[in-house]
Amino acid sequence: MKKNIIFIFSLLLAVSSSYSQLKIVTTIPDLKSIAEFIGGDRVDVFSIATGYQNPHFVDPKPSYILKLSKADVFITVGLDLEIGWVPALLNSARNQKIQKGGEGYVDASTNIPLLQIPTSVNRGEGDIHIFGNPHYWLDPLNGKIIAQTITNTLSRLDPEHQTQFQSNFKKFNETIDTKIKEWEGKLNRFKNTKVIAYHNEWPYFEQRFGLKIVDFLEPKPGIPPTPSQLAKIINVMKREQIKIIINSPYFTAESAELVARNSGGKVLTLATSVGATAEIKTYFDLFDHNVNQLVTALQ
Ligand SMILES: [Zn+2]
Repeated sequence: MKKNIIFIFSLLLAVSSSYSQLKIVTTIPDLKSIAEFIGGDRVDVFSIATGYQNPHFVDPKPSYILKLSKADVFITVGLDLEIGWVPALLNSARNQKIQKGGEGYVDASTNIPLLQIPTSVNRGEGDIHIFGNPHYWLDPLNGKIIAQTITNTLSRLDPEHQTQFQSNFKKFNETIDTKIKEWEGKLNRFKNTKVIAYHNEWPYFEQRFGLKIVDFLEPKPGIPPTPSQLAKIINVMKREQIKIIINSPYFTAESAELVARNSGGKVLTLATSVGATAEIKTYFDLFDHNVNQLVTALQ
């Protein structure tokens, strides 16, 4: 009888430990997609922002605090991208594990080669990219660096399954390496095509795929378009025969359309995150979508 009880007890333990997944909260769905790829069935991941929200500005909701209070891991883009909403949420969650410096706090910008690090910073002017451009996940090769950081964290917190995480990481890299050839191949003949963008969130994408982003509808990152800026852009587009204005799903199309009407260009809305549209389900889909949209618009 005693033996049986011990047997059942150890069986229960085995079952519960094999089913206990790491609870991960990410700020944006791209980090969720990568964490799910690496973690597989060992993780349960929730993203606070959706793919059609501006990641700089997200409304903190009580349900996010509840998620964060129970999380083992918190993954943030960092570089103050989420300065407007993450500190308040982390504070309210009162979960030591995921506070900055805690064992489950992950800054995904670790080891990313940053672009546009400013030489002088003036938040008073409204600039929201004060540590360098924070939209680094839009280069798929940076996705590999993010995946490495996540693999390291998961291996540290769940060492029993590190072989599984390592093997998923290898698969992730192989998929990126295969896909990037396809993406570069499709965009190759449009190298150095000049475009305009609404917000300065494409430098990593631009660097990887060879577009030339000439100017932005926002006079500064985070400052909405002004009439004088739009007039300037219309002139630039006419002068340099620029045909495309890249918009993001969370900006109203009015400014971009006004500029397009007055310059003979057209507005192209690209996805900045996984989940921007229903068919963009993974980090790989994000680039499939944007590359195909660009090819269609440019040819
Ligand atoms: Zn930004």
